[in-house]
Amino acid sequence: MNYRHSFHAGNFADIVKHALLLWLLERRQAQGPVSVIDTHAGAGLYDLTGDGARSKEAEAGIARLMAAGDRPPLIEALAAEVARLNPDGGVTFYPGSPLLIAGRLGEDDRYVGFELHPPVLDLLTGALEAFPQAMAQGGDGFDQARTWAAEATGAFVLIDPPFEQPDDYNRAADTAAAIARADPRATVAIWTPLKDMETFDGFLRRLDQAGIKRMLVAEARLRPLTDPMKMNGCAVVVLNPPPGAEAAADEVCGWVAAVLGGESARSEVWMTG
Ligand code: SAM
Repeated sequence: MNYRHSFHAGNFADIVKHALLLWLLERRQAQGPVSVIDTHAGAGLYDLTGDGARSKEAEAGIARLMAAGDRPPLIEALAAEVARLNPDGGVTFYPGSPLLIAGRLGEDDRYVGFELHPPVLDLLTGALEAFPQAMAQGGDGFDQARTWAAEATGAFVLIDPPFEQPDDYNRAADTAAAIARADPRATVAIWTPLKDMETFDGFLRRLDQAGIKRMLVAEARLRPLTDPMKMNGCAVVVLNPPPGAEAAADEVCGWVAAVLGGESARSEVWMTG
C-alpha cells in the first residue's frame, strides 16, 4: 500500500469532502443521536509542514481558502475548524474526517473510524484520545461498515478509500448500496476522484444497478476530465441525502471551482432518479 493521505491533506478535494461532511453531520444530528462510521479514516490530524514545507496541494487548497475573503457559510464552517487548530494563525495543522467529526459529537453520538495501515491507525488512535464517544479500529473498512451499520439504525457513513486498488470503486459502490438498501434511514456519502468520464459514469451505473435510483451527485471539476492519470476534480455522492443537500453541494463545489480552479473549472450538482 503506497497511499499516504498526509501528502494530499488540505487539498481542494479534502475541502469539498470536509465542508460537505460538516453540513451532512449537522443535518443528521438535527434528527437525533447519530452513529458515524468512517470506513477509511486516515490519521485524523495532519501536520502540513511535516516534511519541512507545506505540500503544493495544501498550498493550492486550504492555504488559499484561509486567505480568501467572502467565504460562503459552508466554507466558513471548515475555515473555523482549521482556525481552531491553528490558534497562532497560519495553516500548520489540518483536521481529517475523524477529528472534524469527533469534535462535533454530542453525548449520545458515536464515531468509529477504520484504518487498515497500522502506523496510521496508531496516529488515529492518538488523535481520538480526547474524545470518549469516538473510537479507532483496525481492519478493512468496507467489510466492517456493513456489520456496524446494521447495528446502528440511521447511521451516517463516510466511504473514502484511496482508490489505489482496482476494485475500490466497485467495493465503495457495493458497500454503500448494501447499507442503504438494508437501512433506508442511513445516509451514505462516498468521495471519489474525478479523472476521466467513464470511470465515474461506471461507478454511478454500478450504484444504479444495485438498486440506488435516487442520490445526490456533487462534482467539482478543476480541469477537463480527459486524463485518467490525473485527479482533475472530485465528487461526493450521497445516498439518502437530507433536504437542502443540493443547495449545500452547490455552495461548496461552486466555491471550490470558482476560487481554487482554473479557467475551465466548473461544478456540477444534480439528483439522479
Ligand atoms: N477519510 C480521511 C479524511 O477525510 O481525513 C482520509 C482517508 S484517506 C483518503 C484513505 C485511508 O484509508 C488511508 O489512510 C489508508 O491507509 C486507508 N485504507 C486503505 N485501504 C483501507 C481499507 N480497506 N480499510 C480501511 N482503511 C483503508
